[in-house]
This record gives sequence, C-alpha cells and structure tokens, in this order.
Amino acid sequence: MKIHFLLPAGTALACALASLHTAAHEPGAHVHGVAELRIVVDGSQLQLSLESPLDNLLGFEHEPRTDVQRTTVRQMARTLRDAGSVFTPTAAAQCHATTVRLASSAALGESIETSAADGDGHADLDADFSWTCDHPQALTGVDVDLMRHFPGLRRLKVQVAAPSGQRAVDLVPGRRSVAW
Ligand SMILES: [Zn+2]
Repeated sequence: MKIHFLLPAGTALACALASLHTAAHEPGAHVHGVAELRIVVDGSQLQLSLESPLDNLLGFEHEPRTDVQRTTVRQMARTLRDAGSVFTPTAAAQCHATTVRLASSAALGESIETSAADGDGHADLDADFSWTCDHPQALTGVDVDLMRHFPGLRRLKVQVAAPSGQRAVDLVPGRRSVAW
C-alpha cells in the first residue's frame, strides 16, 4: 500500500519539476505583450539576449509595406543598436556595449538579419547585446528601459545567470530594475 502511494507521488513531483524546467527553457513562446530577456554574467562579459514578438516592438509582424512602417522599423533598429539607451548596467562596473546583433524571421531591412520563418504569420525579433565591463566585481544589476521605448511590451520575463546564482524576475511597466 505504501509503495502504491509513494510511487505516484514521486512521479507527480518529477513531472512537475520536468514541466517547470521545460517552461523555463522553452524558446519561442510567442505571446503578444510578453518578451523574454536572458542575462548572463561571465567574468568581464555581460550578455543580454532579447526574444520578443515583433508586434511588441513594431505593432506589426511582417515585412514593412509603407513608408510609415519602414520608419517604425528604422526607429526600432536605431533604439536597440544604441544599447545604452535601453539597458543601464551598474554605473561603477563601467560596462561598454561592444556588439548588438538583430535578427528576425520577417524581412525587415535596416541590416537586420533574416532568420528562418515559422510560416504561421507571426514573427519574433532576436536581439543580442554584448558588453565588456572594466570593473565586473561592481556589476550587481541592470536597469531595463525597453517598456518606455516600446509601450506594446507589457511584461518582460527575465532570467539571470550570474556568479551569485540564477534567478528569474518579471518586469512590468514601472518596474525596471534587475539585481543579482
Ligand atoms: Zn505574433
């Protein structure tokens, strides 16, 4: 009797843990208004990887067809390439943005790489931001201003992997600080 009781209970726990793990690492969950940001701190390197439905950033998810849409794409690319306007690492760490890479499954132009399309009518933007910090021991967080620039973004699911450990935090309008 005890074995019958314990086995299903243990299995349920294992399943719950497995589904948590899957949810935390599932790429490409496409929900309008929501985006994911992964932050990795490794020595003097700070890596930020954003994956967002294009709708959050542009209000549409296809190749731009009008001058207004082309201007919207250009402004988005300009904002994100100026990494310091959307991310503010701890000032004392003296971090400098080194590279910004933008890619989308929609053909956006503006030197944004085009990745393979899903063909479901939806498209994401993948943005990778690399920073080098002169004083990495002082790096304890980053402020994220994406929602001020892109009001279509209502919730940012952040995962951090830092020397102090891993954590997850949700940013919403008015909450912009990630600390570790
Ligand atoms: Zn979509």
